Amino acid sequence: MTPLAPGETIGILGGGQLGRLLSLAAARLGFDVHIYCPAADTPAARVSAASTVAAYEDEAALARFANACSVVTYEFENVPVSAVETVEAAGCPVRPGAKALDVSQDRLNEKTFLRSIGIGTVDFVAVEGPEALAPALEAIGGAGILKTRREGYDGKGQVRLFPDGRGLADAEALAAKSPCILEAFAPFEREVSVIIARTPAALLAYDPAENTHEQGILVRSQVPAGISTAVTKAVFAAGRRLADALDYVGVFGLEVFVLPGGEVLANEMAPRVHNSGHWTADACVTGQFEQHIRAVAGWALGSAQRHYDVDMRNALGAAIADMPHIDDPFVRQTLYGKRESRKGRKMAHFTRLTPLGSAAQTLER
Ligand code: AMP
Repeated sequence: MTPLAPGETIGILGGGQLGRLLSLAAARLGFDVHIYCPAADTPAARVSAASTVAAYEDEAALARFANACSVVTYEFENVPVSAVETVEAAGCPVRPGAKALDVSQDRLNEKTFLRSIGIGTVDFVAVEGPEALAPALEAIGGAGILKTRREGYDGKGQVRLFPDGRGLADAEALAAKSPCILEAFAPFEREVSVIIARTPAALLAYDPAENTHEQGILVRSQVPAGISTAVTKAVFAAGRRLADALDYVGVFGLEVFVLPGGEVLANEMAPRVHNSGHWTADACVTGQFEQHIRAVAGWALGSAQRHYDVDMRNALGAAIADMPHIDDPFVRQTLYGKRESRKGRKMAHFTRLTPLGSAAQTLER
């Protein structure tokens, strides 16, 4: 991989807050960013040098975009694989490539792939239509979570099923609408995630974060996670296995369940920078956004060394004004510049930093 020179253009498929933070990190390294997104006036396009507003199916627009960029990446895992293939066919490399996108877009393929490379997951069964639900439920022990195979995120497209029959009607309706996967409940003690960065020459992991979700949406990440060295090693081992199996270039997030006995089960991977890694931009030598840009640009990775303990909160919907810590000088705020707040929509995040040891002080005046 020939390293890109500063001044070259990096293309990003997707225009949300992840694209925005990637674009700002790329600008710091001297790159221009070109955002490709079907929506206009996105958080990412507003901080980028160029943007294309066009559908992911618009092959002519994708080819023009490919010609304008030295390398393309994506910030959204539901970008159609065909869009990535069109950009590649036009002669522009896409990093990470189509495979990671393909694997992560379908929960059934993803879990099957994770298992095939030796990473543990909860038990799961494919559910094709409402009549497949009862046998599937029996196969995994009478309770679980039904999820659409595709397009679900932040707890959308999921129904919890309990042994007393609760959830059944909703689950049948969901299974009638889309192909689904039924997962056994993971009796987890903690939810943890790890951010991994990989290039052909290097592989590194950030400290795992301990995550809290409400209604399937991440609301809080804390670092260090309350896990033992052995569990941390198991999380890193899963991350390494996945990164190598995908021959990955860039940053990805891997979410895992930690069971009471210390067993680690993978829940899902996101082939992009990840919300549970936003704190790295405030607390580490090199944050995940810059790290991803470095990797896709063919640059050497920076250190992932952490300088602070972190308590990161997401601001959802209209809750920005109510966020705690906002007047605290040790809280860093990152607002996404979204024009509109909707219930559950990620609007900002706040990281409360506790220095690991520093001589800096607030002086008496
Ligand atoms: P997901 O969209 O798959 O990341 O699910 C969102 C959240 O729902 C997860 O972070 C967990 O808190 C919960 N969840 C998802 N799948 C399971 C499972 N199989 N067992 C227990 N909790 C789950």
